[in-house]
Amino acid sequence: MSISDNLLAVRRSLPTGVRLVAVSKFHPVGELMEAYDAGQRIFGESHVQELQGKVAAMPADVEWHFIGHLQTNKVKYLAPYVSMIHAVDSMKLLREIDRQAVKNDRIIDVLLELHIAEEETKYGFSPDDCRRLLAEGEWRELRHVRICGLMMMATYTDDTAQIRNEMEQAQSLFHELKSAYFADDDAFCECSWGMSHDYQIAVETGATLVRIGTTIFGERVY
Ligand SMILES: *Cc1c(COP(=O)(O)O)cnc(C)c1O
Repeated sequence: MSISDNLLAVRRSLPTGVRLVAVSKFHPVGELMEAYDAGQRIFGESHVQELQGKVAAMPADVEWHFIGHLQTNKVKYLAPYVSMIHAVDSMKLLREIDRQAVKNDRIIDVLLELHIAEEETKYGFSPDDCRRLLAEGEWRELRHVRICGLMMMATYTDDTAQIRNEMEQAQSLFHELKSAYFADDDAFCECSWGMSHDYQIAVETGATLVRIGTTIFGERVY
């Protein structure tokens, strides 16, 4: 199947209200253009340098979502154009995004990355660290970042019960934080979970953004 066939098949399988982030990291611009020509506008990338090249080569109406781990010293490169930063995992990073957003006279949408999966190597806040960050309240002073919700990656496993359990934990934390801090804030509405192998479960556990690469573009060649 072609990229456009894959894309349309994924789209058809998503209920309304769930947006697709086409994860195009490691794929060349020609392949992104195939998806673009089939109507895709939201693309996800996880390496700053690679993204910079693609931004220059792709049409201006693409919404770029940065989904990878972001170092504070790289925020300045993304700040002029990025539509959403999915994986904010420290107060320091949040402050730097705000600072660069001020410089660019814009407000940058972000998600807080949760760490629920078993893998040690994954970045992100534990549920308690996430609660603590919001309770401390400094984020309220950062007028140029808008916290739009939560992002997480479930454990990479065939055990669908475990994946579901982790996504349900994320969903329940989302609702808890929504009512505690964002009840009057319509912008806090995004749950970013689900990748190629687990997005069906994500859709059933409240995802509003699914990040799908391999199913659309095929295997990545590193
Ligand atoms: C690469 C990546 C994806 C997409 O993974 P696929 O298995 O190719 O769908 C989703 N989310 C993040 C954070 C990624 O780095």
